[in-house]
Amino acid sequence: MPRTVRGRPTTPSLERWATAILREAGAIVECEQHGWMLDRGDPHALARALCAACDDPPRGIRSSEATAAIEDVIAAIGDTCPDCSRPSEAEDGARFKYVIPHVP
Ligand SMILES: [Zn+2]
Repeated sequence: MPRTVRGRPTTPSLERWATAILREAGAIVECEQHGWMLDRGDPHALARALCAACDDPPRGIRSSEATAAIEDVIAAIGDTCPDCSRPSEAEDGARFKYVIPHVP
């Protein structure tokens, strides 16, 4: 997919709309504990959000602007919660099992 050429800032209201569409489609979820939006990395959910944006953009917004807003929002969202992603919860947590004490 070619990258969207930027230059047209996404307004806060359009950003909120795009976030809502992405949540409805299941492309992003909110961390229950910290409230960060997380990219679920589901290409089908993202496609559903882009379809919804294209088919039913907000009043006064062109379809191309609506889909660009969706892409802007998803690009700005990470796939891990910065407050949840601690080393002890990582899949390769075994690496942290043996901690060599630092001797000054
Ligand atoms: Zn979290």
